[in-house]
Amino acid sequence: MNIILFGPPGAGKGTQAEKMISHYNLPHLSTGNIFRENIKNKTALGKKVTSILDAGKLVPDETVVELVTDEIKKEKYKNGVIFDGFPRTVKQAEELDAFLHKNGKKVDSFITLSVPEKELINRILSRGQGRSDDTPEKIKTRLQVYHDETEPVFAHYKKKNVVKEIDGVGTIEEIFDRIKSVLS
Ligand code: ADP
Repeated sequence: MNIILFGPPGAGKGTQAEKMISHYNLPHLSTGNIFRENIKNKTALGKKVTSILDAGKLVPDETVVELVTDEIKKEKYKNGVIFDGFPRTVKQAEELDAFLHKNGKKVDSFITLSVPEKELINRILSRGQGRSDDTPEKIKTRLQVYHDETEPVFAHYKKKNVVKEIDGVGTIEEIFDRIKSVLS
């Protein structure tokens, strides 16, 4: 099963992904986590993307697609994956679809978490993870980038009839229950 967890920054994708990993026994592929790990370890990729993440902008599609198609070849993803933070542009979605298609696979479910903008900002500011992109100014940029470049990915998958919209407001358990019910 290949699942995309979708939604704006602060919607709770990472939190719900953690719960899904153990419940569905699927691996998690978070492009944001991979970038942050590379930045921490000062790899070539990390050096290339540091200033982009810091500004709250998007890493170029080519770089992201190369990273994901490389990662997804690993044995641990053979039964499926939970994508988190990817695809973030229509171009990335098209490349992902083509890659999966080539391997006899597809996106089975696209779960989008809806949360009002005010709540998103509060959540990010209060999560206190010390991320350099979690300042009010950068959150504004990330939300703008989300509206301009990422939201169209929703319409892309809507056409493919795989979209499941979830109310992302509530307790972690309530939201997870909603996810389980749309996936059952
Ligand atoms: P959030 O959803 O809270 O903004 P992520 O961890 O998903 O956090 O992403 C953090 C940053 O990593 C993004 O602002 C962007 O710079 C970069 N990034 C992550 N995934 C992608 C992607 N698929 N395409 C382009 N840039 C990405």
